[in-house]
Amino acid sequence: MQALMKVAPGRGNLVLRELPDPSPQAGEVLVQVAATGICGSDLHIQDDEYKVDPPVVIGHETAGVVVAVGPGVQDVRPGQRVTARTTISTCGRCPLCRAGRTNLCPQRRWLGGHVNGGFAGYFVVPEGVILPLPEGVSFEAAALTEPLACCVHGVLELALPASGTVAVVSGPGPIGLLCAQVARAAGAEVVILGTSADAGRFALAQRLGFRHLVDVQREDAVVGVERRTRGRAPDLVIEAAGAGASLDGCLRLAPRGGTLLQIGLYGKPVTVDLDTLVLKEIRLLGSFSSTPTAWPIALDLMARGAVQTEPLVTSRRPLAEWAGAFEAARSKAEGKILLTP
Ligand SMILES: [Zn+2]
Ligand SMILES: [Zn+2]
Repeated sequence: MQALMKVAPGRGNLVLRELPDPSPQAGEVLVQVAATGICGSDLHIQDDEYKVDPPVVIGHETAGVVVAVGPGVQDVRPGQRVTARTTISTCGRCPLCRAGRTNLCPQRRWLGGHVNGGFAGYFVVPEGVILPLPEGVSFEAAALTEPLACCVHGVLELALPASGTVAVVSGPGPIGLLCAQVARAAGAEVVILGTSADAGRFALAQRLGFRHLVDVQREDAVVGVERRTRGRAPDLVIEAAGAGASLDGCLRLAPRGGTLLQIGLYGKPVTVDLDTLVLKEIRLLGSFSSTPTAWPIALDLMARGAVQTEPLVTSRRPLAEWAGAFEAARSKAEGKILLTP
């Protein structure tokens, strides 16, 4: 099979290689990949801003069909349409593991970072991380289960906006539009912020039913939000752009005693005025990856239609064209790009 690998540490070092098809050992499941999404973190892996354990096949936003199972596998069978949780193994003993916060275990090994992932024809994972897809959730929609689970973790497990409150999402990329939908499903009134370069993503937000959109280059963010919420301040502000100017706006927007959820990755240090954080007693919450509990919620939100992931997919390309696809993923004109083997 062909597989996109990070072959060594350092900038770049991504190579499409021919690997033997993997086979499942005891307790493992072999999945034939249908589609795998390019994540912002894959771009950070390409730029060496996000550490992985090369040589490794990258790709962690994936869905496919089970084609074989190893000895001892009980609940998964060939033919099932599935996705895979990305936390493959943790130490199981540290206080974070014991508290269910396996995303934070120092020994966490994850799909597409330490364990060969989904930018390939096949991948092999332990039975325990496999989740069957609900009927009506397509492979393309399901390839976005992972980013949706990250947003479920951040928005519902960490921040949890109260129904009827205002939530602001800064950055209308795939993560921002998933967070926005999760916050809306929780009953929040959502305002989405972006820049003039986000015109295409704003159009996508409109198709997803969001009416409160603010271009912060044409309108002051604070005034723009007030206008759309009849003067109500947001209770929750979500930074999903991973840009210094966006965080700066979020700090200005967060109300006294409010919460700022940081889900975007910057890939580099940024300069902001943190006195604002102190003076307003803003709770700054980092949100990293996902917990096992977020995944069934993500699948359920998709199955119920409360979150739509398929409209976020703006292009599909063969794995062989990964280089151009990664370049395109850096452009704000695109939503989620899927690679197919
Ligand atoms: Zn991802
Ligand atoms: Zn642990």
